[in-house]
Amino acid sequence: MSDVELAEVESFALDHTLVRAPYVRKIAVEHGPKGDAITNYDIRLVQPNAGEIPTAGLHTIEHTIAGLLRTRLSGVIDISPFGCRTGFHLIVWGEPEAAEVAAAIKSSLEDIAERVTWEDVPGTDAKSCGNYRDHSLHSAKEWCRTVLTQGISVDPFDRSVLA
Ligand code: ZN
Repeated sequence: MSDVELAEVESFALDHTLVRAPYVRKIAVEHGPKGDAITNYDIRLVQPNAGEIPTAGLHTIEHTIAGLLRTRLSGVIDISPFGCRTGFHLIVWGEPEAAEVAAAIKSSLEDIAERVTWEDVPGTDAKSCGNYRDHSLHSAKEWCRTVLTQGISVDPFDRSVLA
């Protein structure tokens, strides 16, 4: 170890070999100086170290779910992909339950898999995206179908899949 100072981050304390994706996991609730709660969720779509969503498909899911999720869950601040490409961080105002979040994610993934067309995907030109050539709706749809077939659990360690 060097003497570089790093804060401890919960995500790296999670034993990724014990989880069973796809799942929604509440990581932490934090409170601001005025008492407002912000909750951070681990939206894990792919089993860690068993696979990863290719960048183009993940990028298209990211752009599309940004709009879809906000029509289904109130208080969404951000949903951004993990660098490991196995899922997303979701940050929301308040403290919605994992089941409510999982239902909103499931319904959003269903729309991507079954209804979204290329014309629906926002940010697919040089003006509105930082890497607009790297998109794949085909890959996004395939991966959403795979996740939906497996089901989204509200327990990260024990499969408890939403109906
Ligand atoms: Zn983009």
